[in-house]
Amino acid sequence: MNDVLIIGTVALDTIETPFGKVENALGGSATYASFAASFFSKPAILSVVGKDFPNEYIDSMKKRNIDLEGLKVAGKTFHWEGFYEYDMNEAKTRKTELNSLEHFKVDVPQEYKNIKYVFLANIDPEHQLEALNQMNKPILVVLDTMNFWISHKKNSVLEAIKKVDVLLLNDGEARQLFNTANLVKAANEALSLGPKAVIIKKGEHGALLFTKNKHFSAPGYPLENIRDPTGCGDSFGGAFIGYLAKTKDLDEKNLRKSIVYGSVVASHNAEDFGLNRLKQLTMDDIEKRYKEFQDMREF
Ligand code: AMP
Repeated sequence: MNDVLIIGTVALDTIETPFGKVENALGGSATYASFAASFFSKPAILSVVGKDFPNEYIDSMKKRNIDLEGLKVAGKTFHWEGFYEYDMNEAKTRKTELNSLEHFKVDVPQEYKNIKYVFLANIDPEHQLEALNQMNKPILVVLDTMNFWISHKKNSVLEAIKKVDVLLLNDGEARQLFNTANLVKAANEALSLGPKAVIIKKGEHGALLFTKNKHFSAPGYPLENIRDPTGCGDSFGGAFIGYLAKTKDLDEKNLRKSIVYGSVVASHNAEDFGLNRLKQLTMDDIEKRYKEFQDMREF
């Protein structure tokens, strides 16, 4: 039985980092998020690809037990081209071709409507709102977005934020969205819109959790080999909600654990291009690094 629904992009990515380049690799926010969630739960995705989308990419998603009933096929696949300089915390976009995403009509399959954990991963905020509208009383809704949508559809992004329980943003997006250099102010503004928790991802420097009266900071993992950070935000979100769906415990303490699992999976993801690392990752790798995170925090 599926226990996490993820709406987001399934993409062909062309990525260049100081350590290499890949063209038309499997990517997209729903792809990274569902791979990451699949270590803890049974994800289903809602997205669209084109007729040009390779069958072998579909096969690698099926291998991770990702339910693809909600993956439509129309036109040409969403394509993103980005690069990183030595500061790998910031992706720079060369090209965003929405293609079939432009005419994507969200239609949640009947069998997905009762899924209780919903991740509105990075995609057009109007698609996020429509998907949420069609769901029957989810227990937890998590939302992610990015600078592209904040620049093009800020009002819809804010509208969506009002309807979710947890907001995920990276530090640059938080500053852009709330027009402040200060992350605490940005988090408080976000909380005042409705979410019970706001998580600000700070790339290799970890993540901050803000709730009404408390805050928590998860360390970044001291990675020696970062090759491609694409998808780290999405993997973080996928592992975060996947662990919550598995444990069915939304207490502050368990949110903290979920953030550490998110950081663990995201740190592994950065070790190789595209989804190469997550394809090989095992639960043992995850638990081993989780323990290292616990050790790092003891003093
Ligand atoms: P991140 O976790 O932020 O590194 O996400 C990287 C993924 O986001 C890539 O695989 C891209 O295909 C996807 N992406 C890039 N631009 C957009 C966009 N405007 N909307 C949705 N997904 C995007």
